[in-house]
Amino acid sequence: MPGAATSTVMADGAATADQRRPLIGLSREDFAAEIAAIGEKPFRAKQMWHWIYHRGARRFDDMANIPKSLRADLAQMFRIDRPDVTALQLSEDTTRKWLVRFDDGREVECVHIPEDDRGALCVSSQVGCTLTCSFCHTGTQKLVRNLTAGEIVGQMMVARDTVGEWPNSSEDRMISNVVMMGMGEPFYNYDNVATALRIFMDPEGIAMSRRRITLSTSGVVPMIERCGRELAVNLAVSLHAVRDDLRDVLVPINRKHPIAELLEACKTYPAANNARRITFEYVMLKDVNDSDADARELVRLIKGIPAKINLIPFNAWPGVSYECSSNNRIRAFAEIVNDAGYSSPVRVPRGRDIMAACGQLKSESERARGESTRTLPN
Ligand code: SAH
Ligand code: SF4
Repeated sequence: MPGAATSTVMADGAATADQRRPLIGLSREDFAAEIAAIGEKPFRAKQMWHWIYHRGARRFDDMANIPKSLRADLAQMFRIDRPDVTALQLSEDTTRKWLVRFDDGREVECVHIPEDDRGALCVSSQVGCTLTCSFCHTGTQKLVRNLTAGEIVGQMMVARDTVGEWPNSSEDRMISNVVMMGMGEPFYNYDNVATALRIFMDPEGIAMSRRRITLSTSGVVPMIERCGRELAVNLAVSLHAVRDDLRDVLVPINRKHPIAELLEACKTYPAANNARRITFEYVMLKDVNDSDADARELVRLIKGIPAKINLIPFNAWPGVSYECSSNNRIRAFAEIVNDAGYSSPVRVPRGRDIMAACGQLKSESERARGESTRTLPN
């Protein structure tokens, strides 16, 4: 049924799922196997891959070098359509946020942060997040599930459609970088994230260098080494506190994997060196983690790790009781870290007006059901 909707209501009223198999999100090998399984030669899979990931084809009919009859057959068997975009917002500062809906109605958000000659796409790995970091909006969302590799890649496809970045060129890319910093903990969905990142890196498709991909983790220690070895992407770690008692509250996974264990894994991260440093993210929370003593302890802790510190001004969301540190406090904190020889840029909040800044993502359907409130730790 070419062009059929996602679900079809049959005459007897029963809805049946779309039987066509999604190609977007299949690894290069699985993609080739699907095409081989219908009796086509390997070069067809290569052509199709190029159409999908280099040219951004949205319909088999656009694949000009594929015979017409085969295009029609492909359209009956496979899907290359995108997830639905249920809302698209543009911030005053040109940050863009998509609310993307999948076949089961679940939604995630995806954000594009453009800069002069480049731009990062902030991609989600889960619907919501099972972790409950006390300052993060995503952590308050009750419904949680892993995204499939196709749903992760789907965010990239939708973003490139909007930004008009097909065919893929190597220069002046609006989406030059990917940060796995949207909703969810990427290491709790490692296999699908890995498949998606390999698709982003494939030289015959989106062709993004692993140096332009950053994965942020709240500290799932057992996955760190594997990620460095298998994917060799940049690592960002949500540290946010220098003492276990406080980090237990801010980033509760710390109770399982405390600071010392986390930093040990960072010390030996296979893909880090002085030229490719690990980013330690540190959210600035007024009177919680922002003292001079905290800054000095931070410097002591990361000694021996090729590191940079990314200070993130706290982004508020409805119902939260944390506050962002003052500019003076952030500056003083940054100076101590800087004087110790670590780069410590303060992340300029982007897209706050459309709730697109770090930690503000939460899908709309959830938001409508009312906010849960969080209280400050003692
Ligand atoms: N789950 C992963 C990646 C997504 S969050 C992780 O936690 O690392 C991306 C970054 O935004 C993390 O460092 C996260 O701790 C931070 N963050 C969460 N809520 C925030 C908020 N309200 N203000 C500023 N940063 C926040
Ligand atoms: Fe999940 Fe990251 Fe938010 Fe923590 S900060 S709740 S790990 S998305």
